[in-house]
Order: sequence, then C-alpha cells, then structure tokens
Amino acid sequence: MKNFYVTPKKKLGQHFLTDESVAERIASAVNYGNGSKFVGLEIGPGTGVLTKYLLKNSQMDLNVIEIDRESVEYLAVNYPELYGNNKIIGGDFLRIDLNEYLLECKVVCGNFPYNISSQIFFKILEYKDSVKQVVCMLQREVAQRIANGPGTKEYGILSVFLQAYYDIEYLFGVDEHVFNPPPKVKSAVIRLNRNKVETLGCNEKLFRTIVKQSFNLRRKMLRNSLAQFLKGSDAEQPYLTLRPEQLSVNDFINLTNILDSNNG
Ligand code: SAH
Repeated sequence: MKNFYVTPKKKLGQHFLTDESVAERIASAVNYGNGSKFVGLEIGPGTGVLTKYLLKNSQMDLNVIEIDRESVEYLAVNYPELYGNNKIIGGDFLRIDLNEYLLECKVVCGNFPYNISSQIFFKILEYKDSVKQVVCMLQREVAQRIANGPGTKEYGILSVFLQAYYDIEYLFGVDEHVFNPPPKVKSAVIRLNRNKVETLGCNEKLFRTIVKQSFNLRRKMLRNSLAQFLKGSDAEQPYLTLRPEQLSVNDFINLTNILDSNNG
C-alpha cells in the first residue's frame, strides 16, 4: 500500500476503520450468490480498509462510490484493479443517477457515513427489485431501529418500510476505539436480505403516508394521528386505540386496506 495519509473529514462522516479483523468480518457477512457472479456496490470506501476484503469475494464484481476527492485519489493509487476498470465512482451517493449503478446491483455494502444512513436506505428501497442484500455498519441505535420489531422504542418509519421488503439480522456490535477518529456513538453491523414480497397487497402510497403520519405523532393513539382518514364507522376499529410502535408491518397493511376502503 502506498502510504499517503487521508485526513478524516468530520463533515463527510469519515471514521476510518483501523481494525482489519472487523473489516474482514463485515466483508465475510456478504453471503449472497449461488456460485455465479454478481454486481456489488460499496458506499463510502474511504481508504479501502473494507474494500480490500470485499475484493477477496471472487463472485462479486465490485464498484465503489466515494464522495471525498482525496480518498478517491488514494483508492486510485492503491487499488489499480478498481481504477483501471473504472470501478471507482467519485460522487455523492445521494445525488448520482442511481439507475446507472443500482439497477443491476445485487449487493450494497459499506461502513456507511452515519449522518446519511437513513437517506441511503430510502434510496436503496427505490431499488428493492434489484438489491437483494445489504451488509453495512452504522450507528448502533439506527441498526437497532432497523432490525427491531414492534413493541420496542427504536421501532419506527424506517423499520416498517425496510421490514416490509427485507429480512433483517443484527450481526454484531463494534466499539468506537477501532476507528480513526473514534465516533461519539457505538456502531453495529446488520444484514438485510430481500424477502419474497413483491407487492404489499394494499395501496402502497397510502401505506407510506399512514406509516409516516403515525410515527410523526408517535405518542398519540392512531385515532388521533390518523383522524383525517377516518369516518364514523371506524370508531370500533381496534387498531385505532394503539400507538404506532405496537403495529407490525402486516397490521399497517391491514389498517391501510381498512382506511383505503373509506375512499372507495
Ligand atoms: N469504509 C471506510 C470509510 C468509512 S467512513 C472505512 O471503513 O474505513 C464513511 C465514508 O463515506 C467516508 O469515506 C466518506 O467520505 C464517505 N461518504 C460520505 N458521504 C458520502 C456520500 N454522500 N456519497 C459517497 N460517499 C460518502
């Protein structure tokens, strides 16, 4: 490795992994594939600590996207096999045209920039038809929020949206001292596998509206937060006396169908 130093930049959420055994564990959690080649995308490779181990997966045809120019330069020098094949994308994952990179992509991975991890997941959801697996490290609370089911305080909008289409595993926690600089928060690694659900069996636009509106007023009973969707005969609906964190994905689907029929 040619060793010039990339200064970690706070505003880009840069916390470089210093413990390669953690990088190795994350990379080996990618277990998609049935013997044939597939396309993968790493978000935020930085100086390539994780990239190095992802490249050992001979089935994965890896692309990386990195916003930081200095890191891109570093990767170009140290990973000629990526650079030479135009597999280093210099750009902002939230702004590039993802049709180009995610329509064919089966696996997304990375030690995500924690400050934009929710936005990254909302983008991935737009490509749920192609993206079959996500393996990523993120802030522990966010990992819990995504992985936890109803009845927990972490359960929220992103949990419901992701759990509707992915089976989610919380793999392991990572302490702050294996990063440079150490983040103020603890970290965790999760894996998402696309489930068999193709459509939810309800008006999906209304489903999204209902989930968002319920959790935006998370301490209120659904009767109050969803008042605008109700009509008189709904008064007896048992869901309406609950709070949003008590509803599973299927409950939200049922509720959507009940409320949708109000407009039919
Ligand atoms: N994978 C590396 C770096 C993780 S830090 C490691 O584990 O050491 C997060 C990385 O995401 C940084 O390199 C940061 O520059 C990059 N990043 C931040 N915002 C980004 C964005 N919008 N698009 C692409 N990369 C981004």
